[in-house]
Amino acid sequence: MTNSEQERWSRVKGRLRSTVGEDVYTSWFARMDLEAVQDESVHLSVPTRFLKSWIQAHYAERVLSCWQAEMPEVHRIDLSVRTAMRCATPAKEAPVAVEARRAERSDAKPVSNEVRTSAAASLATSHDALGGSPLDPRLTFASFVVGRANTLAHAAARQVADGRRGDPVMFNPLYIHAGVGLGKTHLLQAVTWAGNAGGERKVLYLTAEKFMYGFVAALKSQTALAFKEALRGIDVLVIDDLQFLQGKSTQAEFCHTLNALIDAGRQVVIAADRPPSDLESLDDRVRSRLAGGLVVEMATLGEDLRLGILKSRVAAARAHHASFDVPEPVLDYLARSITHNGRDLEGAINRLLAHSKLNNQPVTLDMAEREVRDLVRPQEPKRIKIEDIQRVVARQYNVSRSDLLSSRRTANVVRPRQVAMYLAKTLTLRSLPEIGRRFGGRDHTTVLHAVRKIEALVGKDITLNDEVESLKRQLQD
Ligand code: ADP
Ligand code: MG
Repeated sequence: MTNSEQERWSRVKGRLRSTVGEDVYTSWFARMDLEAVQDESVHLSVPTRFLKSWIQAHYAERVLSCWQAEMPEVHRIDLSVRTAMRCATPAKEAPVAVEARRAERSDAKPVSNEVRTSAAASLATSHDALGGSPLDPRLTFASFVVGRANTLAHAAARQVADGRRGDPVMFNPLYIHAGVGLGKTHLLQAVTWAGNAGGERKVLYLTAEKFMYGFVAALKSQTALAFKEALRGIDVLVIDDLQFLQGKSTQAEFCHTLNALIDAGRQVVIAADRPPSDLESLDDRVRSRLAGGLVVEMATLGEDLRLGILKSRVAAARAHHASFDVPEPVLDYLARSITHNGRDLEGAINRLLAHSKLNNQPVTLDMAEREVRDLVRPQEPKRIKIEDIQRVVARQYNVSRSDLLSSRRTANVVRPRQVAMYLAKTLTLRSLPEIGRRFGGRDHTTVLHAVRKIEALVGKDITLNDEVESLKRQLQD
């Protein structure tokens, strides 16, 4: 290849980079090589079939127009897969010739059946290679109870699950956050089951740990490329417990994957125990990308919802144990007294089931009270951390934690900051100077002022009083 051809190729790559953007460029084009320029056609190569089919399907036109900007006489791009033999026999390549002939015949972009089947095969192997996290067959939409706490999250999840390949993506990513046991995993797995049901789309469910593990393992076995490509070859990526994503390189990889999927119109669904702004270990770019879709919070389960969940659990148990029944008053009692989360509700029904089976007795209120006592008894008062207070307060007032620590004096920040300092004083054993330090290095008199101010206000201002009570409940749960 001549020097001038090489230079031209660099310029074409430069154009490509600026039309598709840095992230897309590195994801898809960084390993594309120029093989030859012959009359009207340019021969390019990539290392895998997957890359080839992806580029043909999504970027063929753009690659061509970038070439035409440099060389107007170019009318065709032939893309081939570099084989391992390439270094040994660089001159002649059968795939290019085949592609060229095919292109001549149809006068269209060479997207063949062979490409399609290889993409499908790569999806299948990718799923195995990635090892999606195990799915619980019980966690479906059918068993998910909808109530005030989760209406929006449920509707959004349903929308994602019902989408078809190629549909415009309405919100991306869909980011669902809620405390422990409030149904995040249930909803995400429901999306996965339903989305995969038609067989048309590939929905992959991964915990953040699995994502990290898969990535690290793939790096070790030197198949990082295969892993990335496989991950990018799915229609919907579902990631659970994102708060556990750690490590610089994993995050960088996560960021790339996210960008590649979103730019390619693929859906991403994420669950975490906090909003994006509170994922402190993530870098700003990832956070803003996460916040750029639809962020939905699921609230604590109301009593109605708890009752609904209990009933759905009983119904599920009865499918296997027809004689099992929980009378209405017992359900009411459980719904009223087990307030923490869905996991405890499930645990309560399991215990009643076990007890009534083992002792061959019907479920009574007495029995229920005995069996679930430890789930009802308020747990040991939790040690509350100042970070938790800041996080919960920031979430409630829709500001960021760094706003609370900053020196900004706008009203929408000042009041939440004072509330947070007040809670830090009343719910922890920290001293005023210590609290001041933890709030961006403030003086202890500032903290004292805040505490007094809020103390005085909660006596008069009902809204504020409710807010403070709700914050306390969230923190003590
Ligand atoms: P999270 O992932 O948010 O910690 P899970 O999805 O694991 O919570 O839910 C904990 C338990 O509560 C599961 O057994 C789940 O089925 C049940 N659960 C939570 N919310 C609901 C709901 N809306 N409908 C039915 N079951 C629910
Ligand atoms: Mg979960």
